[in-house]
Amino acid sequence: MISDADVVVIGSGGLGAATAYYLAKRGGVRVALLDKHDLGSQTSPRAAGMVSCLRKSGLMIELIKDAYRKIETFSDDVGQPLAWVHSGSLKIARRPQDAEVLAADLERGRRAVLDVEPISADEAHRLNPFLRPTGVVAALRVGDDRYFDPAQVAVGFARGAEARGATLLPRTDVTAVDIEGGEVTGVRTGRGPIRAPVVVDAAGAWTRQVAEASGIRVPLVPTRQQLVVTEPLDGVRADLPIVRAMDAAVYVRPCDGGLLWGVYEDEPRFFDMAEFPPGFEIKDMPLDNGVLRGAAEEVAAQLPILAAATVREFRGGIPTMTADGQHILGPTPAVAGFFFASGCNVAGLSISPALGEALAAWIVERPAAARPLAPLGGPLRGRALVGGAAPEGRRLAVPALLRGGLTPPVVPGRLEPGYRG
Ligand SMILES: Cc1cc2nc3c(=O)[nH]c(=O)nc-3n(C[C@H](O)[C@H](O)[C@H](O)COP(=O)(O)OP(=O)(O)OC[C@H]3O[C@@H](n4cnc5c(N)ncnc54)[C@H](O)[C@@H]3O)c2cc1C
Repeated sequence: MISDADVVVIGSGGLGAATAYYLAKRGGVRVALLDKHDLGSQTSPRAAGMVSCLRKSGLMIELIKDAYRKIETFSDDVGQPLAWVHSGSLKIARRPQDAEVLAADLERGRRAVLDVEPISADEAHRLNPFLRPTGVVAALRVGDDRYFDPAQVAVGFARGAEARGATLLPRTDVTAVDIEGGEVTGVRTGRGPIRAPVVVDAAGAWTRQVAEASGIRVPLVPTRQQLVVTEPLDGVRADLPIVRAMDAAVYVRPCDGGLLWGVYEDEPRFFDMAEFPPGFEIKDMPLDNGVLRGAAEEVAAQLPILAAATVREFRGGIPTMTADGQHILGPTPAVAGFFFASGCNVAGLSISPALGEALAAWIVERPAAARPLAPLGGPLRGRALVGGAAPEGRRLAVPALLRGGLTPPVVPGRLEPGYRG
């Protein structure tokens, strides 16, 4: 056990581990990456692992482009394995109003120099034969999209950080962040205290618990998301494009010879993590396969394989949602040295390489942090919310918790509208 660090990162999911990696990579920063469970073992490895480039704002498109380049060179740069496939994706409209959204997507994609083109329903079927053209009124091919193995990102970044001098402390529960005179002085853990002037709360579903233990309130809600992986199927190739059915908010991609698919729920289940027992792990979260069955029925005309295929794995995780669809990334001005990396809105793993690097720059160079956030916001001092990504195609039901009650500790600083199709 160590007693001192320059930066303590709480949580070794994609966001925390990436931040620790980019801090360690800079050299000269003593980084400690703590996790109350095994490294990278909670929500991050349960994600779908899709990279969706057609975000709502220029900032987010630039960040996701930066992130996918880092994913492509991950093995060489970080020195850890990461399997990824440049598959592209097909965004499918079944209603006229969604076709209008696709037209706007096309314009935005072209402005952002993305590889986007409108295609016919038959062409979409040719590109991915599991997608039937029935009832498809418009389709957009997004050539830049891709997918990766979600289980390799957080652990890879953590190991990469360790190789660059960071201290990894799995199974080390942070019970409070110590604050004196408005400044972070360290953390208390089940294994003893660590003194540090900077702490990053990247505790995923537990972000609020960590912050609230020190009197800091943060407006995000842990939300269940679920997916299915099927047994191998004839005709599945790894390079088949991802399919996204807009109104149903269903996504499908190849996975180990079968298909991985899920749905961004209209009315997802929210959790108060404080109600779970202390040793709770995300793998113990209650699942509801009725949600997936309903989604498969909803797209039965376009994706009949979803209902027909044999399920090999049914899993879920608890990403954090924010009311405006923005990530929560950056310092809280209330307490010097307290940073957040959370509010991922079901899209945090793919962008974690870019956010981790940006946050590392912010911590080390503040207030002069430049790339990659500066082009959008001018001086970043005091800003804490960064343009984010909510699930495509659906508005989230925001619980009362977020509509009233909570006072965001972070400076509002909303840069751009959130990502909502
Ligand atoms: C079904 C599903 C599909 C998804 N699909 C995608 C996708 O296609 N693309 C995409 O980009 N994202 C996707 N996501 C979202 C993605 O998984 C999340 O955005 C991302 O993994 C969040 O990472 P995190 O680091 O915030 O959280 P986590 O991975 O949960 O990490 C947080 C860590 O903090 C630790 N911790 C908590 N409290 C403490 C404490 N007190 N002390 C020490 N450690 C603590 C936890 O043990 C945990 O390891 C999906 C998620 C799900 C569930």
